[in-house]
Amino acid sequence: TSHRFSTLSVAPPDAILGLTEAFLADSNPDKMNLSVGVYKDASGQTPVLKCVKAAETKLIEEEKTKGYLPIDGYTDYRNHVRNLVFDETIEHDRIAVIQTPGGTGALRVAADFLVTQLTPIRIWIPTPTWANHGNIFAAAHLEAQPYSYLGADRKSLDIDAMLDDLKNKTRVGDAVLLHGCCHNPTGIDPTAAQWKEIAKVVAEKSLIPLLDFAYQGFGAGIAEDAVGLRTVLDAVDEAIVCSSFSKNFGLYSERVGAVSLVASDADACKASLSQLKRIVRTNYSNPPRHGGAIVATVLDDAGLTAMWTEELTEMRERITRLRGDFIDTMKSTGAGHDFEFLRSQNGMFSFSGLTPMQVDELKNKHSIYIVGSGRINVAGMSESKMSQLCEAVASVMES
Ligand code: PLP
Repeated sequence: TSHRFSTLSVAPPDAILGLTEAFLADSNPDKMNLSVGVYKDASGQTPVLKCVKAAETKLIEEEKTKGYLPIDGYTDYRNHVRNLVFDETIEHDRIAVIQTPGGTGALRVAADFLVTQLTPIRIWIPTPTWANHGNIFAAAHLEAQPYSYLGADRKSLDIDAMLDDLKNKTRVGDAVLLHGCCHNPTGIDPTAAQWKEIAKVVAEKSLIPLLDFAYQGFGAGIAEDAVGLRTVLDAVDEAIVCSSFSKNFGLYSERVGAVSLVASDADACKASLSQLKRIVRTNYSNPPRHGGAIVATVLDDAGLTAMWTEELTEMRERITRLRGDFIDTMKSTGAGHDFEFLRSQNGMFSFSGLTPMQVDELKNKHSIYIVGSGRINVAGMSESKMSQLCEAVASVMES
């Protein structure tokens, strides 16, 4: 018999993870990897937070079972997610939270829910957006359509074009993906006033907001970063929020996320939850325990919660400081490169405006790896290599 697998072709590598492979193979001792989306401290490490270590120590002593979690996850964890995302304006019996394997798992469950329960439906996604959004929706057979987001100057949100697309291109009842904060890859978020305008259009067209909330706490703070999302939730009866604790707890590999679904009443919520559980049961059956248990253990304990808030603040402030250093050092190269527009960007990334050709040159001539869109992981920068980075950026901008 013929070998059926031997007819398969090799899939293209993931754009961002592929860059890391090239980075690892690069022998230049001064190489820099500013492509991946993980936080790094001053020593270039992605550390385990102290509050996480403390929670894990406690769990090892006190955990009594590795038995399965329920399909929708760990109750204590789910309540904490609800309290972080929502304020008191939405009745608890209208919110169904399920624990998922990371924010990616949350997005996939949400996509499967929209397709299986609400078809015909399309989802509108910003241009640009996190590359995996399109891939996840395609894998779930959820039709995705683009709406305008980044302005032609590549430095600002084109709010008029965005509102225009949401008003005129969508069908009533479609879904719309909104980044809750720290838009990836641009770092450009709507202002409070713009969130109100967005919420108004979402309500007028009865769009179902799918709020991707992967960076809560990386913008301005835990509560501050929820303001835009809550403005939208105030305007509608139905929504889905996809959370992740990969970044704000540094729990990348533990896969800790959640889908929170808001329904118009308790009965609709119950039915929606039952469908979400069915999707989970036929996919990964039930979520992993450890990461959710860590988050719940931290948030159950006032001391550990204070420790977490402090560590999260430290990560956020380091990113802000590095972003400022980059802007100032670019100025001091004397070549007239003004990156002041980066100052108002939020989160781990800065959208530099560098072209794909300049990005290529940074890699080939300077062993500096950034994503083709020009997205720079600010957390990957370091104080000690800032001048080297800025001189290289200046040189590719002049050539
Ligand atoms: N959504 C956005 C916008 C992201 O940037 C990421 C991670 O990079 C995720 C979701 C998924 O995060 P997780 O690692 O928890 O799956």
